[in-house]
Amino acid sequence: MLDPHFRYFTCYPPFMRRLVPFALALAVPLAAQSVRTADLIVINARIYTVDDSRPVVSALAVRDGRIAFAGSVREAMALRGAGTRVLDLKGRTIIPGMMDAHAHLLALGKSLQTVNLVGTKSYEEVIARVVERSKGVAPGIWITGRGWDQNQWGDTRFPTHEALSRALPNNPVYLERVDGHAQLANAAAMTAAGIMAVTKDPSGGRLERTVSGEPTGVFVDNAMDLVRRVIPPTSRAEDRLAIRAAIAESQRWGLVGLHDAGESRPTIDLLEEMARAGELPFRLYVMIGDDSTAVAHYLARGPQSALYDSHLWIRAIKLFADGALGSRGAALLEPYSDDPKNNGLLLSPPAHLQDVSTRALRAGFQVNTHAIGDRGNRIVLDAYQAALTAVPTADHRFRIEHAQIINHDDIPRFANLGVIPSMQAVHQTSDMYWAGARLGPTRLLDSYPWRSLLNTGVVISNGSDAPVESINPLFSFHSAVSRQDADNWPAGGWLPEQKMSRDEALKSMTIWPAFAGFQEATMGSLTPGKLADFVVLDRDIMTVADRDILGTAVLATYIGGKPVYERALMP
Ligand SMILES: [Zn+2]
Repeated sequence: MLDPHFRYFTCYPPFMRRLVPFALALAVPLAAQSVRTADLIVINARIYTVDDSRPVVSALAVRDGRIAFAGSVREAMALRGAGTRVLDLKGRTIIPGMMDAHAHLLALGKSLQTVNLVGTKSYEEVIARVVERSKGVAPGIWITGRGWDQNQWGDTRFPTHEALSRALPNNPVYLERVDGHAQLANAAAMTAAGIMAVTKDPSGGRLERTVSGEPTGVFVDNAMDLVRRVIPPTSRAEDRLAIRAAIAESQRWGLVGLHDAGESRPTIDLLEEMARAGELPFRLYVMIGDDSTAVAHYLARGPQSALYDSHLWIRAIKLFADGALGSRGAALLEPYSDDPKNNGLLLSPPAHLQDVSTRALRAGFQVNTHAIGDRGNRIVLDAYQAALTAVPTADHRFRIEHAQIINHDDIPRFANLGVIPSMQAVHQTSDMYWAGARLGPTRLLDSYPWRSLLNTGVVISNGSDAPVESINPLFSFHSAVSRQDADNWPAGGWLPEQKMSRDEALKSMTIWPAFAGFQEATMGSLTPGKLADFVVLDRDIMTVADRDILGTAVLATYIGGKPVYERALMP
């Protein structure tokens, strides 16, 4: 807990201290100041503070889990006392702890425990990985996996279940596509779910079918639930292990927190139980999933910020407007260029988006809605606008999650309405190989438009959408500044005029996510008074060549002034 002395003498920049000397002199006896030595002093580092008043410094001092000082080595060492740990970083780089503004904590944890299909180059490879995992698993037990992407296979059509069903006749298998917006089930899973040719497409969902109407095993968007609902739920103990694994994995890559893009009430209860018990060493901004009972419960409770010593925030609701581009579920104003009868899917009626948004504004909550297609984005902007007209609110910070394809007429509406585009830079470099086929050349110019949006004055909160993409935040940092994939393709970057600068990219993973989570007063920069969350890197990501960014090693991750992850090669 902060004491008042600490707060007075560290929160304000020097010019403000000069303005109020008498009040402070009365409040703090001189003797008390001299004994306020630091717990930790970090020296000889290249420290990017993301604080525009003092952007690069060489030393930090930490006291009571907060930044006590950022500046020169000499001044920092003046705070050294008998119990102070001094860390000489010998020229290493420090940035503020990174925050992922859009990821799925429990799904990430489960993905670490289920069959990982990310990076598979063929359907055969998918089947081989599932068969490998099934060894020793009793018949009838479900096998789940995630991460396949037919766009990365030689044959980019959706797979059909037959080969999977032949290889795994005795275990129900449920394999989610990389974007979480489609899944492939084998025959045993479809039998368990009672799926037949007569099964109808649910609203907002689609079963892929043969010409004769037989389900092929691929279920898109809301149709996924037809199978998912018969999978036995994981236990609370399993979920707790999955959450722990996800946090450890995040910290390994330099993340000090994330915005968890939609969890159920039982999961949020579990997170709260863990935070209360001190088992959540992470800054978790959790969004409430779109469930009417859960939403009503949390709206009645009111917005909760910085719970349990700044470890948990519960003040946002996650809604869905449409699906994803890869599975042609993103709602478009004009049909898909490679599927002329298909405009995509609306996952929620526009009236629902408006209704929840209005109730959220009344209760002081933020709304963050998934929208990928240009029609999806427009519908959300319209819903937000109507809600804000009904309940005028100055500082709502409503967000659109992904905001991938935006009609150029809608770009200025983000700034005008105060809506934050929460975009995952790495999606651009994952989608660029086939986005042109889906959208055609004209709409492509309105896609992943970071520069167009930044030019209107908005901030962009960056993220990974893990487990859709790797949780390593440097993938999005690299994509943001290069518009190139991990192999540095294409030369010069894809639609390079939309690149972010290094400075913007760093802000998009630190102070801008903090702003998008109402956390910027205590997080997001290495400003005296803020939480001492920072990351030590083996190289200077602000100056190395684009191609050297992804080789960066995280040497240590500090949360509240304590190392939660350290590599052996730390000095
Ligand atoms: Zn997501």
